[in-house]
Amino acid sequence: MKIINNINDLDFFVREAAEKYQKTAFIPTMGALHAGHLKLVEEGLRHADKAIVSIFVNPTQFAPHEDFDSYPRTVEEDIQKLEAVGAQALWLPCTEDIYPNGKEVDVRITGVSEPLEGEFRPHFFDGVATVVARLLRKVKPDIAMFGEKDFQQLQVVKKMVIQENIEIEIIGVPIVRDENGLALSSRNAYLNEAEFKTAIQLNIILKEMADGSIDEKGAHEKILEAGFDKIDYCTVRNAKNFKQENPDRVLVAAWIGKTRLIDNMPLSR
Ligand code: AMP
Repeated sequence: MKIINNINDLDFFVREAAEKYQKTAFIPTMGALHAGHLKLVEEGLRHADKAIVSIFVNPTQFAPHEDFDSYPRTVEEDIQKLEAVGAQALWLPCTEDIYPNGKEVDVRITGVSEPLEGEFRPHFFDGVATVVARLLRKVKPDIAMFGEKDFQQLQVVKKMVIQENIEIEIIGVPIVRDENGLALSSRNAYLNEAEFKTAIQLNIILKEMADGSIDEKGAHEKILEAGFDKIDYCTVRNAKNFKQENPDRVLVAAWIGKTRLIDNMPLSR
């Protein structure tokens, strides 16, 4: 696997693939890779000749009080995992590669970005839309893979590429879970043993909501009973616009101590 540390090497990789008419799949990540990220690479390679992954902990999507500094950084292990699944390249941009004029945010997506995550992390999607647009313009891939784990983000990115006129296909990949059903997340590394036991209840409660055994109020009660400290939202919404009309997906964000977990699934009733 080629490790790309500067824009010249990236340009070379991109040009070489284009000259050979090779289709490229791009997988943007913030690192601390787990089987969910690796699934994105594998799916990318099913659709394309080459997979290029980026690891960049994007400062503009973190609010000052959030976990930018403590976000896990495990590049050596990440490289080994990516080699094992056959990624062709890993790009490790530095902040100046992405933000040469300082950490400005210049892509804003309305509508789909506003409820749920948009309400509780108002800075978040502008930062995501800006960084993904910049990464895509540099890597120029044919397709890019995004996880349904961040379901609202996937819809925001789909809207962003249309708005920004970036020619690309955005492909969503189903959530990868551990044997308990817990959605894999780099932030699960923050959980201690007791918190982990609480965390694995979330998926069970979500399933009950999805099959109609409990309503939103019941789910809220169960999540708090399970040991979560705070619920940002736990609700059934439309999976395209996140409005309450025509609901078909359960989405949740809840806190255990300082760790914020998100999860979602389609209705099964
Ligand atoms: P992150 O490194 O958290 O920014 O995630 C990078 C990409 O991996 C995003 O498209 C996420 O939605 C995706 N991803 C993270 N966790 C999972 C998971 N458990 N299953 C599927 N995709 C995931």
